[in-house]
Order: sequence, then C-alpha cells, then structure tokens
Amino acid sequence: MSPPQIPSEQWAQVVEKTGSLVYKRIPVQKPGPDEVLINVKYSGVCHTDLHAMMGDWPLATKLPLVGGHEGAGVVVAKGELVSDDLNIGDYAGIKWLNGSCLACSFCRQSDEPLCGKALLSGYTVDGSFQEYAIAKAAHVARIPKGTNLEEIAPVLCAGITVYKGLKESGVRPGQWVAIVGAGGGLGSMALQYAKAMGLRTVAIDGGDDKAAHCKSLGASAYVDFLTSKDIVADVKAATPEGEGPHAVLLLAVSEKPFQQATEYVRARGAVVCIGLPANAFLKAPVFDTVIRMIQIKGSYVGNRQDTAEALDFYARGLIKVPFKTVGLSELSNVYGLMKEGKIVGRYVVDCSR
Ligand code: NAD
Ligand code: ZN
Ligand code: ZN
Repeated sequence: MSPPQIPSEQWAQVVEKTGSLVYKRIPVQKPGPDEVLINVKYSGVCHTDLHAMMGDWPLATKLPLVGGHEGAGVVVAKGELVSDDLNIGDYAGIKWLNGSCLACSFCRQSDEPLCGKALLSGYTVDGSFQEYAIAKAAHVARIPKGTNLEEIAPVLCAGITVYKGLKESGVRPGQWVAIVGAGGGLGSMALQYAKAMGLRTVAIDGGDDKAAHCKSLGASAYVDFLTSKDIVADVKAATPEGEGPHAVLLLAVSEKPFQQATEYVRARGAVVCIGLPANAFLKAPVFDTVIRMIQIKGSYVGNRQDTAEALDFYARGLIKVPFKTVGLSELSNVYGLMKEGKIVGRYVVDCSR
C-alpha cells in the first residue's frame, strides 16, 4: 500500500488575535518522534473552543491558535518512536489532553489531566479545526475501524467529560442526578451516559426545544430555568420524596446555577462542577454544607482509561450523538449560535469543506 499523500498546506480556522477567527491556508506540521499526524475528518465544537477564542480564562492560549479538541480522523504519519499499536490508516481522535509527561506523580497514577506539563489541544497546542493535526501517540483516542467518525467526534470531549463527571459524583444505579445545561453539547451526552449507567435524571435548561430534546434522550423530568419561579423547589419536587438529587452535574456556562446547586442537592449528595463560565465563583452556606454533609468538587475531562470506557459505551450503541454538521469554513456561525445559547446538542464541522 502506498503511503498517504500529505499536502504541504491546508485549510484551518485560526485565532490570530483574541476574539476573532480567520479561515486561511497554513502549513501542515510534521509529527515529532512520539507523535502522530491525523487527517481530521470531523471535529465537534465544544463551548471550550469559544472560551479559548474569547480569552475567557485565567490561562493564556498560544497565539496564533488553531482551536478544536473533538477531532476524529485517520493516522497519516507517525514518528519513529510510536509503537505498533498505532499505525498509518488507523482511526484516532484528538482530545483536549494532547499530551502529558507520563512521568510525574499525577501521570504515574493516571491523573494525566492534572499533569503540570500537559499539552492542551486547541489551547496550548494547535487543535482539530484544521485538516491535519498533531498529538502525542500515547494520548490519542483509539477509535475502532468502521466507526462513524462524524458521530463519534463529540464523544472525544463531551462524552469523556460527562462520563468522568458521573463517576466522580459517586452516584450508584437507581439514584438521581440533576444535569444543569442538559440541552447543550455536554448535557445531551450526560443524559445518555446517566441512563446507560442506570441513573434517573432531572434535566435543567431553557426553552421548549431543549425540553423536547432532553425528554427524547431519556430525562425523567425537565426544569426550565427561564420560566421556573423557584428552581430549587422544582428540582427537589422532581425527585422521590422531594429530597433532591443524589448528585448535580453543573455543565452550564453561567454562574447562577453554581450558587443554587447546594440548595437542592440531597443531603450527603455531591455537586460536581464541570462548566467553566468566565470569572465565576462558587458560593455555598457553610452551615448547610456541614450539617447536610454536602460534597463540592471539580471534574476535568478524563484519563486514557475513561476515554476507552466512554468510547466503548458509544460502540455498544448506548449513546446517540445529537449532532448537526456544517463545513469548517462556517465555524464562526456556530460560535454565534453558541453565544446565544441556541444550540440543541452539538455542532460538528466537516474539516474537508
Ligand atoms: P453548550 O453551550 O453546548 O451548553 C451549555 C448549556 O447550558 C446550554 O444548553 C444553555 O442553554 C445551558 N444553560 C445556560 N444557562 C443555564 C442555566 N442558568 N441553567 C441551566 N442551563 C443553562 O456548552 P458545552 O459545550 O456543553 O460546554 C459546557 C461547559 O463545560 C463550558 O463552560 C465548557 O468550557 C465546559 N467544559 C468543561 C470540561 C471539563 O473538563 N471540566 C470539558 C468540556 C467542556
Ligand atoms: Zn471540550
Ligand atoms: Zn505528568
């Protein structure tokens, strides 16, 4: 078999200065010894990509920056140190964690997202909003041959992240979890991972479209944050004996729900923070937190094992990804809809157009 033809130039969406995008031709990079070059076919658009472009967070991005970290594609080149478990022609995924040192105390205990030397796709290194992207071979997601690359793309961040968050929450089958931001990209996946894990869900988001969407994905109840007069009371009322959900997954890009969650979580429950609204703070009454024994914690993407498990749920047909596809050239329109909170499910960009 002749090796794949790799062009020297390609189309990419580039953040040249914070707040805006330029669709242009840029050089294709060559993989280093421990890296692979992936011909990205499809990339999901995560709200994190918008945060990165807008400079929302207290961590600088590289500039110019190619965003994107839900890139599904085919390995077209590999460095000389990459072992035989990853070969030219294999399907692979670019995730948020592009690489880590594999040697520090966090990496040693498979907490590689916490590695001080972690490389972040579409943030500290160029990501998947281009036709050819690079990642460390140890960290790319292994995607089985024959997988629908368009559909699996959003699993590479949204799926892995919510699956990890549900595990971190400590909930057990039969228990209830509130999903805040349930109609968005992460939320749509969280409802389904929760269902597949034997959990009941209270979906929280705004509007009738998102209500119908959340119900279709298996939510047991829906609370509309735009019309509810008392979100705390409504969430509790949706759970058995009005005691509140055993856990809350906070996926919304807004500070308010981060202040409300400890009020409706069940005593001894867990509030898991995943969404990253700009300049937001957590606030909870100390008295209640103590006497109701509430846990408040963060959860950040997933490790390589979480990745393999999250992909396996998809492979077994348990996760349907609600996506719409547009060309890579239309990425700024997707960001426009995202800013207005109008996206139901996930947008995917086709990197070949
Ligand atoms: P999204 O825009 O697709 O979804 C956000 C949803 O929140 C929307 O449906 C919106 O209507 C809803 N929402 C807004 N205000 C709300 C409120 N007050 N109550 C309930 N719902 C509300 O975004 P996404 O791609 O799903 O990402 C969500 C957040 O998660 C982003 O901040 C992103 O950066 C973050 N994220 C974190 C991790 C991690 O590892 N912790 C990983 C990926 C994404
Ligand atoms: Zn993401
Ligand atoms: Zn490390």
